[in-house]
Amino acid sequence: FESIRLFSSITIFSKSSGFGKCGVAVIRVSGENTNKALKALTNFDNFKPRFATLKQIKDPETNILIDNGLILYFKSPKSFTGEDCCEFQVHGGPAVITAILNALSKVDGLRPALPGEFTKRAFYNGKMDLTEVEGLADLIHAETEYQRRQALIQADGHLSNLYKKWRTQLIRNIAHIEAFIDFSEDENIEDDVLEVMEKDLHCLEKEIKQYLVDGRKGERLRDGVKMAIVGETNVGKSSLMNVIVQRDISIVTNIEGTTRDIVESHYDIGGYPVVIADTAGLRESKDIVESEGILRAKKYASNADFILILIDGEKMEKLLKDFEKENVEKYIKEYKNRLGLDDGFRECKQMLTIINKIDLVSCRNKEILKSCNFLGISCTKAINIQEALEEIKENLQNLCGNPTSESPLLSQARHRHYLQNCLKSIQDFLSNFDQSNEQDFAILVQSLRNAVRCIGHLTGEVRTDDILDVIFKDFCIGK
Ligand code: GDP
Ligand code: ZN
Repeated sequence: FESIRLFSSITIFSKSSGFGKCGVAVIRVSGENTNKALKALTNFDNFKPRFATLKQIKDPETNILIDNGLILYFKSPKSFTGEDCCEFQVHGGPAVITAILNALSKVDGLRPALPGEFTKRAFYNGKMDLTEVEGLADLIHAETEYQRRQALIQADGHLSNLYKKWRTQLIRNIAHIEAFIDFSEDENIEDDVLEVMEKDLHCLEKEIKQYLVDGRKGERLRDGVKMAIVGETNVGKSSLMNVIVQRDISIVTNIEGTTRDIVESHYDIGGYPVVIADTAGLRESKDIVESEGILRAKKYASNADFILILIDGEKMEKLLKDFEKENVEKYIKEYKNRLGLDDGFRECKQMLTIINKIDLVSCRNKEILKSCNFLGISCTKAINIQEALEEIKENLQNLCGNPTSESPLLSQARHRHYLQNCLKSIQDFLSNFDQSNEQDFAILVQSLRNAVRCIGHLTGEVRTDDILDVIFKDFCIGK
């Protein structure tokens, strides 16, 4: 609580809207001197909370008019930070913004905000818990539709509701066992209190355990699906990349890796974030030897969540002549093995096999491929490209899920870490509980307290500065 006092004695301000020139810019102020700042800049300090008021904004020292703008005022505690707050909505030119920030800095008790400081105040004032703060950070950074959905669900508190529900359940059971320790001779204590408690904790244990078996969907959605397009040289990997990039997919960023010659590109495919490494030939030189190509394919595939295996239909036809279900399947199996994608590997990866250069395959053979459920495409003749994208999207949905507020998924390794520890503590308790006698209960209950503490770390009720620093460093100034 020291931090709250420390915070509110200083009022902070900053631009909260985006960079560069824009129609309207938002400048935010938060803290107990908000009214003082308003009085200094608008000569008025009786703003109706949550109403927009048009005012002349002047420099408090020179009295020069800076702009006409809308003022939004929020009274503590009904504001984002929980403190008195206001927003100046002004014309978005850089000179207007600079002049207003300058004017605010002339008011006593005001200083520019640090990155994430508004949100930090909201957190310390109990307006949001840590998972909501993380959700908000993710929302600001969300690049694709499903990332946005997941972040909003988390920012809206659906994840913390779930964690808080578990925490309450734990605390209730601790209370029961403590009541039993203190008053076991008392006849007001029901006989079956221990039995009920044990049952309840078994249910909780099961629920958390199941929750953790989520295939890392939420984390993958947050971080992006690592996808590799693999196949022998000349099957059309680069061509496929080129055609899919021209479709309803956008490159979000290109990040040069530190390892030599590796480029990772970020794509939005049907609302899912996808990271594709350069096996697809983004920077693949034409003269790399086959073996190196395959070596690379293996390396990428082993790091990938999703592997798209591309096969050259023309080459396959040259070798097999007439396709039959059996020889096609055998060919593909051997092909995968050549790429290092053997059985053991296949089990743990999501894979999709596509036959390219279908334009060079005979009608008869095309029908056989279809009957074996293999999609044939042509990158150069633009055949079945949309179908290929649909299949890719299906795979992405399997990998990332479809976030809903009813079943929010954990989105970060940090959550997993604490929940695993929480689960372990509950299991410790349960496995020892059977063999213990009443004298040991006081010691045993420590495990449950530990489980509560783990959830406290998750939601931020137990605060550690290093965690907070990591989380708030992701925020920009003005948020
Ligand atoms: P990569 O080595 O796997 O990246 O293969 P490329 O994308 O560089 O393609 C190798 C060659 O196959 C190029 O000459 C492409 O024009 C050709 N190619 C790619 N896709 C098709 C296709 O669908 N049909 C035909 N006929 N040729 C293709
Ligand atoms: Zn290539």
